Amino acid sequence: MSNNLLDTPIEYLKGVGPQRADLFKRELGIFTYRDLLHLYPNRYIDRTQYYKINELYNNSSEVQIIGKIIHIKTVEQKRGKRLVATFTDGTGQIELVWFQGFKWIQENLKLNTPYVAFGKLNSFSNSFSIPHPELDLLEEHQKNIATSMQAVYPSTEKFGARISNKSIIKMMMQLVKETHSLYIDTLSDEFKRKLNLISMQDALINIHFPKNADMLGKAQFRLKFEELFYVQLQLLIKNIARKDKIKGYPFEHVGDYFNTFYSEHLPFPLTGAQKRVLKEIRNDVGAPAQMNRLLQGDVGSGKTIVAFMSCLLALDNGFQACIVAPTEILATQHFVGISEFGKSLGLNIKLLTGSTKTADRRILHEELASGELHILIGTHALFEDKVIFKNLGLAIIDEQHRFGVEQRSKLWHKNTLPPHVLVMTATPIPRTLAMSLYGDLDISVIDELPPGRKPIQTNHYFEGKRLAVWHFLKTEIAKGRQVYIVYPLIDESETLDYKNLMEGYEAISRDFPLPEYSVSIVHGQMTPAEKDREMERFIKGETNIMVATTVIEVGVNVPNASVMIIESAERFGLSQLHQLRGRVGRGAEQSYCILMTGDKLSNDSKIRMETMCRTNDGFEISEVDLKLRGPGDIMGTQQSGTLPLKIADIVKDQDIMLYARHNAVQLLKDDPTLELPENQRIKNKLNIINSKTTIWNYIS
Ligand code: ADP
Ligand code: MG
Repeated sequence: MSNNLLDTPIEYLKGVGPQRADLFKRELGIFTYRDLLHLYPNRYIDRTQYYKINELYNNSSEVQIIGKIIHIKTVEQKRGKRLVATFTDGTGQIELVWFQGFKWIQENLKLNTPYVAFGKLNSFSNSFSIPHPELDLLEEHQKNIATSMQAVYPSTEKFGARISNKSIIKMMMQLVKETHSLYIDTLSDEFKRKLNLISMQDALINIHFPKNADMLGKAQFRLKFEELFYVQLQLLIKNIARKDKIKGYPFEHVGDYFNTFYSEHLPFPLTGAQKRVLKEIRNDVGAPAQMNRLLQGDVGSGKTIVAFMSCLLALDNGFQACIVAPTEILATQHFVGISEFGKSLGLNIKLLTGSTKTADRRILHEELASGELHILIGTHALFEDKVIFKNLGLAIIDEQHRFGVEQRSKLWHKNTLPPHVLVMTATPIPRTLAMSLYGDLDISVIDELPPGRKPIQTNHYFEGKRLAVWHFLKTEIAKGRQVYIVYPLIDESETLDYKNLMEGYEAISRDFPLPEYSVSIVHGQMTPAEKDREMERFIKGETNIMVATTVIEVGVNVPNASVMIIESAERFGLSQLHQLRGRVGRGAEQSYCILMTGDKLSNDSKIRMETMCRTNDGFEISEVDLKLRGPGDIMGTQQSGTLPLKIADIVKDQDIMLYARHNAVQLLKDDPTLELPENQRIKNKLNIINSKTTIWNYIS
């Protein structure tokens, strides 16, 4: 039994031919029989239900009607010709309409013969029509097509009239007939029995031609399981291999820096979660393998001190450490925070960004090479070839997805061994998702906020409530609190956004006049010195209101600020809203976040506002965000590209993912190198996956 048949080019399948094969290749990347077999339906429709024409009502869903064509005519219109057939079932009449392919239709359609017409219903002032209907002779339909679960393929929209769903079903029928004996299972019978999985053969046949709803459910489960199981296996094996092979510098002892800081200079007691995570990190860096750990924690959960104390572990063992952030503001913020912690220990900590002066750079490079510099913090400027550490022991990367792995490794091109790597993310993602996207990293989660934080109260108001909101601000300011008002500035070059911002600033200055109130403004077109001066005034409490663009998102820590107003909140994504909100709620007072929007909101915007008002939990928010946007958007194409999922949905199928992961872990526990005879087919499949770029294009 050879598998070669499944590698046959698609044009050789009966019913395809060179022209359609071209479309398949161009539009869907389908080249072989195997590719076509893995074109899964995205839904199923009931072809056993027939409508009566007098029962049709005004919804644009798919209907199927038994009737006869009694009349065909061509209608000339300004926008072109169309062909119109009058179709009746005795209870009424509808029109079947075509905009192309007239000749074939006119030559082949039979008048006064029972047909089944199927398609999307259009209605226009009480009369109905079906554009480009699927027409089958009643006799044929009842023999072949009448099924309660007919597959609808996702390609249909892309192909338009060029390849109909009906013809894809025919091709699929032909394909399954020719190849079904070749669908080899990689899972042993024992394994399938234990996990209650149907065979690959049954799964593939039933995904295209479901016998019944039960079998369809089982087929979907099996195919999703298959995809997720192999993703998990790959990740787990990579993880094991890394721990085995990638040697790292063991930080053998916890020394003076760490101990002195811990016993004498801690600015606050660590939370339980911070302690746990530090222990996890200490265990990792103490071993002679490279650490690759993802540190997740919500805004304000206190990642900075964990990062700092991890650096101390490196310093205690004679190594340097660095922190890389995606933006200058974020890097600066880290620098300020870390320097504050480091003061008590007399550490040499420096900042390197695109705007670091040449003279300062020279000193920095020297100190870095001599080892005098302990911790270097900065942006991608750290990746430049001129930046050479004496001995980098720990690299902390803030917000992983903006730096590629290759870029990262530039950091340690002088090292003999790679440094330990800690990736920090402030956009927390659900653990199950983190496991599948970063399954080759170990994961630590700070799932506890520092004590005494009151949950921020969030409300959403339309423009009509502006006066009430202003009134609320005045009462808060009267209590001595400060306020942020943030305007969207998605693109720095958007002049319209600047106009809105400046107009907003003027209106606010009018409504909150001197000398009772004073208003600051910070935006991206100001010089750094101007920005700093305004920030400084706000931090000192000299101004009550800070009008700003999203530059504020990551930049500041003003515990006395207790109100965050977000203007045109519908223009922000969920994670950005959450980050912005995280600027308040840092002091002891009750804090508020107010989302202002226009009256017309899309469904997605409504969900975003509702979610923000409902919860402060970053993990829950990112889960909603994932559902709205899909994982690709959130993680950047890089990661989502590594998950070639055709049927499993990383968000909706988290349960199956966990089940698959659990069983993958189990399998590797019993047979770490996949040597057992019953696991040989799994091993083979993994080998093929690893050797192919389009890794899911095969079955056995
Ligand atoms: P993020 O995780 O968002 O980077 P930060 O590290 O900036 O959070 O911490 C947020 C605020 O909470 C800072 O002002 C920090 O000093 C404070 N903080 C962190 N950990 C604790 C703690 N254990 N107890 C009290 N305050 C803490
Ligand atoms: Mg932070």
